Amino acid sequence: MKIFGIIDISTIDYPKKCSAVVFMSGCNMKCGYCHNYEHMLENTHEMTPEEVFNSIDLMFAEAIVISGGEPTLQPKALKELCIIAKRKGFPVKLDTNGTNIEIIKDLIDNKLIDYIALDVKCAFDKYKKITNYDGEKIKKNMLELINYCKKNNVFIECRTTFVPNVMDEKDIIEIAKSVKNCDLYTIQQFDNEHAWKDEYKKIREPTTNELVELGKISTQYLKNSDVVVKSKDEMINIAE
Ligand code: SF4
Repeated sequence: MKIFGIIDISTIDYPKKCSAVVFMSGCNMKCGYCHNYEHMLENTHEMTPEEVFNSIDLMFAEAIVISGGEPTLQPKALKELCIIAKRKGFPVKLDTNGTNIEIIKDLIDNKLIDYIALDVKCAFDKYKKITNYDGEKIKKNMLELINYCKKNNVFIECRTTFVPNVMDEKDIIEIAKSVKNCDLYTIQQFDNEHAWKDEYKKIREPTTNELVELGKISTQYLKNSDVVVKSKDEMINIAE
């Protein structure tokens, strides 16, 4: 499998658990604000899933997070890594952009996934421009995946990186209305310093207060979900 990094200890990638994170290479989107895009192209290594798992220092990890890139682009390796992690007794979280839901449904059917964090990038009519991917297709996928997770007792988080100028309050309202059945909705702070496209480096970062206001707006449409705002320094739970 192709990976571009492993973090042995993270306290922010799996709620309430210390986790190890594996970053799988390759992505079928091209988000201008991605802070892994160039890193992924430059630092990819080829290893077997077993070698990957064995190279994690598991001294503190209570869960395994598989991130990317888009992990579902390497379905066989992804499944093998999940099997190894589950066999060793670790809960598994998958970070995904939601493009390959049949692969994720197969992992769910085989009880290999406990938690999915699904990126919802923007209002669906902006998807083509921001990610180079068809928005209507992605919306259909996401709604199907949320329902599938709910039916199968897999925790589903939807999350949006809020990029001022490129998106606004209307995007958050449309997203919140669409993903209203998820367990958790997270609005994350855009990081201009590490964006790979120059035009995104010039966009200002949103303030924590702006994110909190957007979080509060989203709660009106997310009656059954928790809402969290993540800035660079803090994580804030938004009560309705
Ligand atoms: S989907 Fe994620 S990994 Fe892929 S380009 Fe967008 S932000 Fe980067």
